[in-house]
Amino acid sequence: MTDQTAVGKVYLVGSGPGDPDLLTVKARRLLDEADVVLHDKLPGPEILDLIPEDRREDVGKRAGGEWTPQEYTNARLVELAQEGKEVVRLKGGDPTVFGRGGEEMVTLAENEIPFEVVPGITSAIAGPAVAGIPVTHRDHVSSVSFVTGHEDPTKDESAVDWDALAATGGTIVVLMGVGKLPDYTAALREAGMDPETPVALVERATWPDQRVATGTLETIVDVRDEEGIEPPAITVIGAVADQRERVVEFLEGA
Ligand code: SAH
Repeated sequence: MTDQTAVGKVYLVGSGPGDPDLLTVKARRLLDEADVVLHDKLPGPEILDLIPEDRREDVGKRAGGEWTPQEYTNARLVELAQEGKEVVRLKGGDPTVFGRGGEEMVTLAENEIPFEVVPGITSAIAGPAVAGIPVTHRDHVSSVSFVTGHEDPTKDESAVDWDALAATGGTIVVLMGVGKLPDYTAALREAGMDPETPVALVERATWPDQRVATGTLETIVDVRDEEGIEPPAITVIGAVADQRERVVEFLEGA
């Protein structure tokens, strides 16, 4: 009977930024082999199309725009594994970078479910890279910070210290940072960063309809509005963002 069923296994898999060729070999194999793939929209249409409909479960935004509660996803992972299934929890980029992979790992461990993390190429590095922007550069910067833009910088309890980030002099890569762009660009200027600091927005990096928009700490909000840049997008702030201008013709095959 069912209590004899061997427990399955959960793979927390990073999909990379969206181009199927940027899946790891292991991720590709697991997508083919898994009994069920739990995903949201972030892996992008091309990767989701690789998974047959009858083996997919969407645990992202529900109709009406609300997110599936994390508790539901956690419980579903445990339930499926206890049924003996091989489960892939597919996440955009790398599963441990702003992906709640940490929480899911703990849930699985607490429920004694075998699991494995399969790293992916994070959009935080790949997004800038495919736009011709290296996140570090020997001549310009020797550090890079990855931060969430989802917080309100005017809140006292904001977990991101924009003053401290401005002081690093390094590249700042903001994820989930389209909506709050006006707030944190203002916070960085107030923290003393040069308003002329180059900024790039990389929208849907490596998807077929990738777009890149560039400006400065002063102008980028207007650029975002004029171009209609929407999530998912990466914001890259710092001298490295300027390099795009020097390579873009070759990158885009002009
Ligand atoms: N684990 C993911 C990040 C999840 S947070 C990773 O490692 O990439 C969600 C944010 O990731 C989005 O708001 C956006 O800022 C960024 N993102 C993910 N995929 C992206 C893509 N293809 N292009 C641009 N930004 C992307």
